[in-house]
Amino acid sequence: MKKTVLVSGGAGFIGSHVTVELLQAGYEVIVADNFSNCDTTCFEGVKKITGRVDLPLVKMDFCDAAAAERLFAENRIDAVIHFAAFKAVGESVAKPLMYYKNNLQSFLNVLEAAEKAGGCNVLFSSSATVYGEPDTVPVTEKTPRKPATSPYGNTKQMCEDILRDAVKASEGRLKGILLRYFNPIGAHPSALIGELPRGVPNNLVPFITQTAIGKRECLSIFGNDYPTPDGTCLRDYIDIVDLAKAHVCAVSRMIDGKMKEDCEVFNIGTGRPVSVLELVNAFEKVNGLKLNYKFAPRRAGDVTAIWADPTLANEEMGWKAERSVEQTLAAAWAWERHLHELGL
Ligand code: UDP
Repeated sequence: MKKTVLVSGGAGFIGSHVTVELLQAGYEVIVADNFSNCDTTCFEGVKKITGRVDLPLVKMDFCDAAAAERLFAENRIDAVIHFAAFKAVGESVAKPLMYYKNNLQSFLNVLEAAEKAGGCNVLFSSSATVYGEPDTVPVTEKTPRKPATSPYGNTKQMCEDILRDAVKASEGRLKGILLRYFNPIGAHPSALIGELPRGVPNNLVPFITQTAIGKRECLSIFGNDYPTPDGTCLRDYIDIVDLAKAHVCAVSRMIDGKMKEDCEVFNIGTGRPVSVLELVNAFEKVNGLKLNYKFAPRRAGDVTAIWADPTLANEEMGWKAERSVEQTLAAAWAWERHLHELGL
């Protein structure tokens, strides 16, 4: 019998790509989303890519404890991947209570419901933001976490700790994996799912593609006086399909009983630092166009340089990032053009 994975926030950018990879790997998936930060474009795209017109969708908010409990009580859920959370750093500074309430409450409800149902394998989507400005790069999973610089970052750290403590106290009923993502970018090669930011994008690649298509006038590169080879920040840009596949590896590791500890943590990155300017140049080159950009002052809160040491995920989970930055940026551009055709 197929194993079932619940994907909370499964209609969003990362959740939709993960759902595709899980289905293609032979898992059954229940997508749950409250559509607070996305529409049904990606969910429809998932159905098209996989041919699963009957893919189950539950419209719900995990802040509703009774709804979360019902979901676990009524379905045999072998693993849950928790994405449902607010994710804008700047907004979290302006509305901290909203962020703490939503991001913590929803995760606590997932864990309580999972416990009440007798236990579960839990994958939490964490972030390299927990490393702050690291003292040394690349960062391994043993690199110390730094105090969070935003309520958003703090919710990631707190949810990591909550999962660790809950697993420890559960006497084997709960198992957990924390995946710390570096910078997920790109889109599915089908161009049927991708990132769909509301309003002005905060992240670099959506801003690049929106500038290229004419939605934005000019990309501002935040800071060219950093102590890096070309003066712009260094990041580890990870292809969204590669990232999604890491979730399949993590889920099967939990379900197939391959874990070495009850709560494990893995960096999900390429191990390859790329500067903002290099990324812009690669985008122009692979897509054969010129991007309107200018240098602007540094953005508050940005770290100079961070990239992953992904050795643990490579060796323990058998996962490795495979796609080149060029392939990823070509996919991001194809997705932006698809959105343009849809009038979005
Ligand atoms: N960035 C930029 N212009 C933009 C958006 C981002 O120069 O319009 C830079 C940002 O300063 C950082 C990098 O791109 O160095 C990645 O930023 P993003 O917000 O995508 O991810 P972060 O690393 O902050 O999570």
